[in-house]
Amino acid sequence: MHQDHIKISLSKYFVSRLSKKDMKQIEVPNRLLKHYKRHPDKLINCKVKYIQKIDNYVKSNKVNIVGIDLGKYRYLAASNLDLTFTFRDEYNTFFHLFRKYESRLEDKQVDNNKAYSKLKTGLKNHINQVINELIEQVNETNSYQTVFVLGDHGSSHLSFPSLVFDLTYFAIKQRKNENDEILIVDESFTSIECPICHDRHQHNRTNKNKFKCTKCGFRHQNNDIVAASNIAKKGKLLVF
Ligand SMILES: [Zn+2]
Repeated sequence: MHQDHIKISLSKYFVSRLSKKDMKQIEVPNRLLKHYKRHPDKLINCKVKYIQKIDNYVKSNKVNIVGIDLGKYRYLAASNLDLTFTFRDEYNTFFHLFRKYESRLEDKQVDNNKAYSKLKTGLKNHINQVINELIEQVNETNSYQTVFVLGDHGSSHLSFPSLVFDLTYFAIKQRKNENDEILIVDESFTSIECPICHDRHQHNRTNKNKFKCTKCGFRHQNNDIVAASNIAKKGKLLVF
């Protein structure tokens, strides 16, 4: 029920913005498409087989799926399904924040709770800044909808990865466009699976954080980006 509602609302948004090129490609009588373009609210009365055609067209041409891989030292890497859109946090901010936190803990003068709240503020500021940049770049791709897919490591509730995950989730939730969605997938094996031949091997990930498939030879300069595109693929299985 909920899923159908999302479908209709995205298709409604889309039909009101139909181009001539779109109309040629969707196998629905053009007089109907023109009608729905003027009256998107009437789409709810459209035949199911036509709604499905419109919906499939939107999914394969207008929906951008962006996988997000989170790390402890380099905060974030993102990629779409085929690695044609990629984004990386280039700064070592997380590394410095955690190092500062550890040295505050060693300092007997500093209260542990205070050290933790300083760390949390630092993480939050950096996360918000990076997510702003990511969403700005995603918006430039002119999709009708972006599905953000977050890889979850299944970390225990009070751990740092789970804090970073939660702060990221809320940063995206606050900034995304109305049509956009956030999905969570299990990120197991995403950093060692080849995006071309799907072979999983520990040695696909090199010690310099590059990717080199031991089976088919596919290479990429950044393993986190490859992991992010694998996360996007796991998200796609949930959407389509
Ligand atoms: Zn391969």
